[in-house]
Amino acid sequence: MPPTMPTLVIALFLSLFVLQTTVEEGLILLNIRRLRHLRTTGAEVPAPLRHHIDAETSRKSSDYTLANARFALVHGAYGAVLTLLVLFSGLLPGFANYLSRHGLAGSHLFVVFLVVLSAVLALAHLPFGLYHTFAIESRFGFNRTTWRLWFGDRLKGLLLSAAIGLPLLYAVHGFMALAGPSWWLWLFAFLVAVQVVMLWAFPALIAPMFNKFVSLPDGDLKQRLETLARDTGFRNRGLFVVDASRRSRHSNAYFTGLFRPRIVLFDTLVEKMSTDEAAAVLAHEIGHYQAHHIHKRMVLSLAGMLVALFALSRLIIWPPLFQAFGFARPSSTRRWRSSRWEAALSPSSWSL
Ligand SMILES: [Zn+2]
Repeated sequence: MPPTMPTLVIALFLSLFVLQTTVEEGLILLNIRRLRHLRTTGAEVPAPLRHHIDAETSRKSSDYTLANARFALVHGAYGAVLTLLVLFSGLLPGFANYLSRHGLAGSHLFVVFLVVLSAVLALAHLPFGLYHTFAIESRFGFNRTTWRLWFGDRLKGLLLSAAIGLPLLYAVHGFMALAGPSWWLWLFAFLVAVQVVMLWAFPALIAPMFNKFVSLPDGDLKQRLETLARDTGFRNRGLFVVDASRRSRHSNAYFTGLFRPRIVLFDTLVEKMSTDEAAAVLAHEIGHYQAHHIHKRMVLSLAGMLVALFALSRLIIWPPLFQAFGFARPSSTRRWRSSRWEAALSPSSWSL
């Protein structure tokens, strides 16, 4: 008996999933072996840096990298097992049936199903977040987050995702159900608009909910960094300092905003680094900006989103996919497509 279409779908999915997991975990494993090798040969510090970094610091730094790599390895394996469990335990169709038996349909079914699923997954990953902050980061002296602050951040994040995510999910369902066969294109345009709004809202409204931002005080550092920005032709909305030391001793700098961004320095960077070192960090960030890394990454992620939405629009009307994962039939956006999936899959209809 030849394999059925759903069996082929499962086989294809599992092959791709195993390939992805093997590559990701394999790369981490290679990195761990490389670090261990450097340690046994005592070659942790590259020759040009030997005069600047002592053995103790270098040992600590490679211990930290190793601990993070081991953590990523275990976390990745856990995530992979979790994904397979959720997909093949019959949990998803069972839960969807449960919701429809309790009177949920259409957009409410769509939203509640996705919200509960992502809440369960977030909860399943919570111990890893805790371990990373309070075991790894603490052991190496980087963590400054209290338990109260950590859970407060999670709670704020949860409320924020609900406030932004719920209306967004209803909008997604609205496009799928009402915008006709090219809903994916309309949804894409809508999501681009949402991203533009978020580019403004993140520095203006969201980031200040978690941290305090103040202008970099006048002085040598400010003068040096402003000169650097001017000399490199880097137009910006000014220099800010964020109270990152409330959570961690790591130091960093970043930009927010697409055109004329704000430059944000961690207070840890301002405190710990000399003016030259801070200028070097900013120069590195300006380099990213001048080489258009930020814009390129954005264009790439939008292109990826467009391809994913198109693929989704074709896949969610393809019964074998649903049968493969235990659903009776394509469920959430039945309205315009029930008998059209074959037509939709023929290449002639793949244009707009
Ligand atoms: Zn960089």
